[in-house]
Amino acid sequence: MISTTQIDNHAADSLFRILDHGKKKSIESDKFLDKLARTGILSDDPRIQELLNIFRVKEQEKRKSPTISSSEFNEILKQNALIKKSLTENLVIPDFEFFCKEVEDIFQETLKNTDGKVADYIPQLARVNPDHFAVSICTVDGQRFSFGDSKVNFCLQSSCKPINYCLALEELGEYKVHCHVGREPSGQSFNELALNSKGLPHNPMINAGAMMSCSLIDRENNTADRFDKVSKTWQALCGDKPVSFNNAVYLSERQTADRNFALAYFMREKNAFPEKTNLTETLEFYFQCCSIESCTNDLSVAAATLANAGTNPLTGKGIFKSSTVQNCLSLMLSCGMYDFSGEFAFKIGLPAKSGVSGALMLVIPNLMGISIWSPRLDQVGNTVRGVEFCKRLVERFSFHQYDSLTGHCKKINPRRKQNELMASKVMELIRAASFGDMDEIYRLQAEGVSPNTADYDGRTPLHLAACENQVEVVKHLIGNGVHLSPKDRWGNTPLNDATRFKNKEIKAMLEQAIKIKRNGKANVLAAVANN
Ligand code: GLU
Repeated sequence: MISTTQIDNHAADSLFRILDHGKKKSIESDKFLDKLARTGILSDDPRIQELLNIFRVKEQEKRKSPTISSSEFNEILKQNALIKKSLTENLVIPDFEFFCKEVEDIFQETLKNTDGKVADYIPQLARVNPDHFAVSICTVDGQRFSFGDSKVNFCLQSSCKPINYCLALEELGEYKVHCHVGREPSGQSFNELALNSKGLPHNPMINAGAMMSCSLIDRENNTADRFDKVSKTWQALCGDKPVSFNNAVYLSERQTADRNFALAYFMREKNAFPEKTNLTETLEFYFQCCSIESCTNDLSVAAATLANAGTNPLTGKGIFKSSTVQNCLSLMLSCGMYDFSGEFAFKIGLPAKSGVSGALMLVIPNLMGISIWSPRLDQVGNTVRGVEFCKRLVERFSFHQYDSLTGHCKKINPRRKQNELMASKVMELIRAASFGDMDEIYRLQAEGVSPNTADYDGRTPLHLAACENQVEVVKHLIGNGVHLSPKDRWGNTPLNDATRFKNKEIKAMLEQAIKIKRNGKANVLAAVANN
């Protein structure tokens, strides 16, 4: 019997051969890292740091680009499941290079759009270079790629709101949190002086609701520790990358806060806050959260943590419970894009949150998080390029949450390998033929699956229909001019199958069709099918 270790060794040998182009019986570490990077595993990924240390030690010993022998490679694969998964194209986006090229195309198209104006209610935002544009992607397997100004910091502004809501949920649970904040879209502007019929903020994604989340987080603690908690959470979400704080933005926000104070007093008048809430402290805490800074490169990892149900894809740390993330994404979907939330949910069909700095966090559950930044805003306060990028993205890829209902045949599904996709369609067609599912057969043929395709054993739809006495299907296939006598791996034709299973009508139909075809009368063949 073959042991699993032997199988693993074979797999390692095959992968080694793929990488060892020059047949030198060794792989250069640079080439190895380059190959990993092309699958989206970058050299600052915490999961490959041990491997990089091995390379560094080798480099110091030999003073040149280190190489890996076949046995060392074997050992690396045993120690690090991620590397094997990436090299065997088993990460969530198997062809990551192809996917990135498509996204880059969308990025370049979107870059041309210079509509909109930067926010100017505080000088720190008014002074930002409006031409900045950055997009970063991180999948739930930690595959990453960035375009544009992805390392330039910007302040979170309203994109801090979902995380504050998550923190409140983690601490107090859904029931207690929603005693203080609703979960309906407000239908009004993000800072509108309006509360719901119970005198509560409509939801945690608008200003009043975000201030409410702030009043709930770690409320027994002092203000410094409460802020530490939020910024440490962002750090953990970003894969243990530090976030910074823009004090000038904070001071400006505090100085121009009349509307937010008015909202807070309104909520206090309605007894919306928990008892003994200090209003000024709560507002200052909210402005501090808005003034946290990071870049798309790191924020995409935070978005991917939400896509991955609360577990960071790079560090493996569980940051939020999956139920917390589910609640948060539900509200991002219905309320995350200011007065464009309904339209965004309709067109894009994905949870997102934007902010007046031009930030946009987009989550594709179980697949990836995307962070976008471009400071020019539209009338409702969303980043113009951010929204355009999202539109183009779902036009090209089957990412809208309901694309699965429509078959999304014209869109790319990067989740699966293309040949895997075709193989599964072939299997579907064969299954449909054996069950006599005509609708499915028409649908798959419309998708371009040839009725002449065969499975691994050479079994075609005609074989299966002949075995299972699916007269209608056989008629249809003959009418479509399929090969009448394909042989499976045991040498059987559909006629052999019909004879073996005593399906007389089909046997007669096939015999007649074969005879007509032999005589070269193709049009009579259609007549058989119509019989
Ligand atoms: N600091 C801003 C405010 O509360 C947040 C604006 C936003 O990004 O929506 O007015």
